[in-house]
Amino acid sequence: LLVNSVHWRLVDLQRTFTFRNSKQTYNGIPIIAANMDTTGTFEMAQVLSKHTLFTAIQKHYSLEEWKTFAASHPECLEHVAASSGSGAADLEKLCSILEAIPLIQYICLDVANGYSEHFVEFVKRVRERFPKHTIMAGNVVTGEMVEELILSGADIIKVGIGPGSVCTTRIKTGVGYPQLSAVIECADSAHGLKGHIISDGGCSCPGDVAKAFGAGADFVMLGGMLAGHDQCAGEIIEKDGKKFKLFYGMSSDTAMKKCVGGVAEYRASEGRTVQVPYKGDVENTIRDILGGLRSTCTYVGAAKLKELSRRTTFIRVTQQSSQMFN
Ligand code: 5GP
Repeated sequence: LLVNSVHWRLVDLQRTFTFRNSKQTYNGIPIIAANMDTTGTFEMAQVLSKHTLFTAIQKHYSLEEWKTFAASHPECLEHVAASSGSGAADLEKLCSILEAIPLIQYICLDVANGYSEHFVEFVKRVRERFPKHTIMAGNVVTGEMVEELILSGADIIKVGIGPGSVCTTRIKTGVGYPQLSAVIECADSAHGLKGHIISDGGCSCPGDVAKAFGAGADFVMLGGMLAGHDQCAGEIIEKDGKKFKLFYGMSSDTAMKKCVGGVAEYRASEGRTVQVPYKGDVENTIRDILGGLRSTCTYVGAAKLKELSRRTTFIRVTQQSSQMFN
């Protein structure tokens, strides 16, 4: 902590990036709604884009739904990505969306395990087909794989295996990597190549978002923190006078049943389904997150979000906050 003159109202959270491979420029507050069924919605994008935040749209919208959204909300398209897994049908659909709606500039290639030759080849193919689109790809957690994906044509690498709020990968498989370490190491590798990273998963409060940026993340992706709002997919559930909304992992039983008719027998479900307390309009949560981030910057003397990682050091602790009244 330093004596400094940064006032929280004046903290600049906007970032400008020029991407290594697409050569395109990004302007905005680099927080992304996760491409999960419930959070990566068109309704979410309408609110987030007003604040220059970004939405990775979930991959199950049809081409018709995309066309309707693009026609009625062209102003949102600067801050959304179209998502795809690495399957042939996914790619075909992605191509049809990008060809029909040229204003979409971002592609989010998302697989649970980015450590496969097939995925690397897939990223190369998408890069060849879309030389000017900005490609987000992941998920990985180590510097070497970040470099491999950037050299294969990705611009922004999604970092995180195991930290998600509804992720059970660590329980089911023992696989994972501590998120803060992953971000520190992967940011270093990406930045060495003029690439960028997204810290994806594990943020449960605005302070965690600030820590991810402090560790070197260029973007932070949020699922659980944005769940439970009006803008999320799904109905409000009433139970004992309280309101909830369903939130589930993309490889949970719920997601599998919805999309591919059940979990394949050879695969364990690696996601949970939870009922989160209904939180109303996401505007309030955005205000809370951005307010927290601005305040972080004033504590450490960063006039801009861009400076935050240069003003941050980490000290290992055993607990984040007082447990006295919990
Ligand atoms: P959160 O912000 O909720 O902590 O994390 C969101 C991230 O969790 C997503 O962006 C995605 O990377 C990851 N995720 C979403 N669904 C699943 C799932 O079913 N299993 C696993 N292992 N990770 C998931």
